[in-house]
Parts: sequence; C-alpha cells; structure tokens
Amino acid sequence: METIVESTEYLSDEAATLAFAQRFAATVESPCSVALIGDLGAGKTTFVRGVLRALGVTGAIKSPTYALVESYDTTKGEVHHLDAYRIESVDDFEARGGFEYFESPSIRFVEWPERLQGAVSFDWELRFDFENEGRRVTISPVAPGGGGGDTRVASSSGGEEDGGLQSDSDSNSQRHPLPNPLPSRERGPNQ
Ligand code: ADP
Ligand code: MG
Repeated sequence: METIVESTEYLSDEAATLAFAQRFAATVESPCSVALIGDLGAGKTTFVRGVLRALGVTGAIKSPTYALVESYDTTKGEVHHLDAYRIESVDDFEARGGFEYFESPSIRFVEWPERLQGAVSFDWELRFDFENEGRRVTISPVAPGGGGGDTRVASSSGGEEDGGLQSDSDSNSQRHPLPNPLPSRERGPNQ
C-alpha cells in the first residue's frame, strides 16, 4: 500500500511564493528530483529562486531556459535548475548531457518536465495554477515508476535516508510513509 499525500496552498502574491519556497527549502534533502508543472508565468522560476536564496545562494540566479541548466553550490549541496522547454526531444536532452545531472546526489528542479516524456522519474511534483490574482501550488509525491515506462534514469542515486523530502527510490521496496509534503511553519528542517 502506498501513502498518497497531496497538499495545496494558495499563494496570493510573489512574496507568498517566495515564503513557500523558503519552507520547501528547509525541508528538502538531497538527493531529490522535483518536477515543476505550470504554464508560462505560473511562478516556477520564482519558486526555484526562492529556494536557492534560502539555501544561501547570493549571486545571480538566471532562468535556465536557454542554457538548459544552471547549477549552484548551496547549503544542501549541489542544486541543478533545469528547464526542458526548449529541448527538441529526449535524445536532444541526452545529447546535451541532461541526464548527467541525475547521476550523482543532488537536488534537481525541472521546469517543463512533460518534455522529458517520463525519461526522468521524479520524487515530487509541484503544480502551479493561476487563481484569481495569485497562484495555487499543489504538491504531490510521485509514485515510483509513475513517470512513465521509458525511465532512463532513476530519480536519484546515492545519499542516505533521513526522512526528509528526498528520494526514496533507491530502496526499491515499498515507499516509506511520507511526511506531510507541504512544508509548514510548524515543522523544523530535520523532520
Ligand atoms: P515561470 O517560470 O512559471 O514561467 P516565473 O517565475 O518566471 O514563471 O514568473 C512568474 C511571474 O508571476 C513573475 O512575474 C512573478 O513575480 C509572478 N508571481 C510569482 N508568484 C506569484 C503569486 N503567488 N501571485 C502572483 N504573481 C506571482
Ligand atoms: Mg521559468
């Protein structure tokens, strides 16, 4: 039996998105792969910027739309921010070294994961929807193998389990019961 936990939260403005990102950053642990779903302007890049700032990145944070990936050294190790919007195909993604970012332990955020057609499996999916003047974020765990049949890379490799928001795909038994995936103010970083 699998524990399915989905949480949703209304983000009334950009500051709310950044605050949500800060709470997510406090909870996420490497290795972890996060799919960011949402239309153009939904707040995916804003969210990642908030996570990176919370993890100590002080320099420029660029959208990886053209470069495919921007990588950062953070207080929780390497973070890769990918944007698959402009890839031509999964083969193109592979040719550009996209899969390499999933080989050693790190935290990866991927905008436009649909373009990868299930070739990467994710631990978490965050969906951003427009709602009134703000956005609604919905966070859900991705079932192992839920990314589709043609999974070329596991969602993560290496690292130790400590109950944080991280991959549990390495232990190929059943999933552990998940903590509430929506980081809340009450929960500390070591939950
Ligand atoms: P995406 O990467 O999904 O295309 P961006 O993060 O680049 O989107 O842009 C999102 C835009 O929406 C930015 O102008 C940002 O200021 C704004 N924004 C972010 N979060 C919210 C929110 N919760 N409510 C309203 N506007 C937001
Ligand atoms: Mg973006």
